[in-house]
Amino acid sequence: MTNNQAKRLLKQHLLKVTGLRIGLLKVLATCQTAITRVQLETSQELVCDRVTLYRLLKTFERRRLIHKLLDKQGKASYTLNNYSFKGDSVRQPASLHFNCTVCRAIYRLDKVEIPVMKVPLDYELESLNITATGICPVCNTE
Ligand SMILES: [Zn+2]
Repeated sequence: MTNNQAKRLLKQHLLKVTGLRIGLLKVLATCQTAITRVQLETSQELVCDRVTLYRLLKTFERRRLIHKLLDKQGKASYTLNNYSFKGDSVRQPASLHFNCTVCRAIYRLDKVEIPVMKVPLDYELESLNITATGICPVCNTE
């Protein structure tokens, strides 16, 4: 994700553009797996206190920029919604999350084609979350 893409994403979600917000989006965009708040707190790229980060995650969650995922133990982790950028338009986010039953990592699978879901006309689809469960490639080879 480039700085401009991050800025555009923030503006589209009616959020003020700040360095920290851009930084958080970029960190989330580079993560292969969902990331916990503790992992974000120790990230070298984000310089902020815990309260600020907590509030920012809440804001992003409320504006549907990120998903909060809970594992079976109730531990929360975060992942960026799956947006694709083409020119000025940002496609409807749809993402598939893969929950590994062995290592408990939650992967965001971007390269999975998700069929277009048709909802009744009086519903407006904003995002779509699908969670799959199974064994990840790392655990599968052990
Ligand atoms: Zn695994």
